[in-house]
This record gives sequence, structure tokens and C-alpha cells, in this order.
Amino acid sequence: MRRKIVAGNWKMNTTVAEGVDLAKSLVAKIKEVPSDVNLIIAPPFTHLVSVAQVISGSKIALSAQNCADEIKGAYTGEVSVSMLKSAGCAYTILGHSERREYYGETSSKLVKKIKLALNEGVMPIFCVGEKLEERNAGKHFVIIGAQLSEVLFELTPEEMAHVVIAYEPVWAIGTGVTATSEQAQEIHAFIRKEIAGRFGDSIANDTSILYGGSCKPSNAKELFACKDIDGGLIGGAALKADDFIAIAQSY
Ligand code: PEP
Repeated sequence: MRRKIVAGNWKMNTTVAEGVDLAKSLVAKIKEVPSDVNLIIAPPFTHLVSVAQVISGSKIALSAQNCADEIKGAYTGEVSVSMLKSAGCAYTILGHSERREYYGETSSKLVKKIKLALNEGVMPIFCVGEKLEERNAGKHFVIIGAQLSEVLFELTPEEMAHVVIAYEPVWAIGTGVTATSEQAQEIHAFIRKEIAGRFGDSIANDTSILYGGSCKPSNAKELFACKDIDGGLIGGAALKADDFIAIAQSY
């Protein structure tokens, strides 16, 4: 079912103690968030177990920021989906542009990761988005269309029904430059149309599509008011409890 979601990607920030404090602040403020808004936080791997204990019993859900593309075994340094599940994760972010850019995350790896996650009942938050030069060259629809078809079109309809999508224009991530609500809505409508073309209207209408890229309390309301924007994937502003909660209240 299509849900309102505000997810915080903490990236490689905070120590365990700082992360636990941030989670405690969020739990203390969660009653200020409308009950139909689903809050998700994605701390670093090292924090997951401790943060899971803090948010247990609250309506905040836990996400990882990545997972391995293998089930288990001799893959030094990797973290499997079953490990994430056992740590309390209901979600994992996959295909973030920073992982595509710095860690060579390819579409074929992402297909494997998404299927492994879904097999364990962990919902992927799958990220797509164009770079600035691609937008300036008018290629944003082509790029996003390819990111969708190379990965999500490899899923069965049953699998696709459990995927959350995040549109994150790379030029807006961490730059302070946000896509206008018109730019974001245009791409979100395009993504929904592509999903409908492959999987049908019912799955497309039920898919939550989040916007990410310099989303903050001052612009969240306008973005979230758009027809095809079902919430946000928040980076920098997710590190401040007041800002993150204010964004979630923008609905
Ligand atoms: C992100 O990287 O997922 C993100 C949205 O970052 P920021 O909000 O800091 O632009």
C-alpha cells in the first residue's frame, strides 16, 4: 500500500553514543508526528543493534544503508541481509548515488541485493537520480528510465509490490540546492508511469516514491504536497532531531 514515509539516511556520521542519543531524541518527539507518517532511520551498521533497542516499541522503523550481494560466507567486510534482519532492520537503502559513484554499485549487483533483501522480508528503498550534466543535457528521463528498467524491471510483480523508490537528483544531494516541486513532481510522475507500464496501475499507485536531495523543514511542505511525492529520504537534516521531526510534520 502507498504510504507516507520520511526516512533519514545518517550516512557515515555519528559515533554509536551520538547515534543512540539522536535516536532517543527522536523517540521523545515522535508523538509530534502525524500517525499516518512512517518514520524510518538508517544509521551506520555499527549502530543498528543499539539503535534498535532505543526505538523498540516506538513507531520508528530501522533501515540499513546497504547490504551484501551474497547470502553468507567468505566476503570479508560485508554485511548480509539476514544479519541486518537479525539486528532489527525492516528496510535497507540500496543504490544510493554515493554507492554507485564511489563503490562501483552496478545495476546487476543491485538486482541481486534487492532480491536477497526481499527474500528476507527486508524492504529495499531503491534510489535513482541523474547527475547535473545529465540534467543539463536533457537526459534525465533516459537516465532514470534506464536505472528503473535495469533493476526494478527484473523483479516479479510480487517483489515490486514491496519496494520503496527514492528519486534523488545527484545535483541536489548535500548541495543545498533542492529540486523545485515542479521538477520533482515531473520525475515522480514519470517513475510511476514507468512502473505502471511494466507492472500495471495497481502496483504503480501503491508504490511509495520519496524525494531526496537537500530536503529540509523549509521546503518539505511544498514538495510533499505534490501528487506523486510520498515523502522524503533525508540526509543532512536527518542528523538533527528537530529538523527531521519538522520535516515529518510537514505532511
Ligand atoms: C541523501 O543522500 O540521501 C540525501 C538526501 O542527502 P541530503 O538530504 O543531505 O541532500
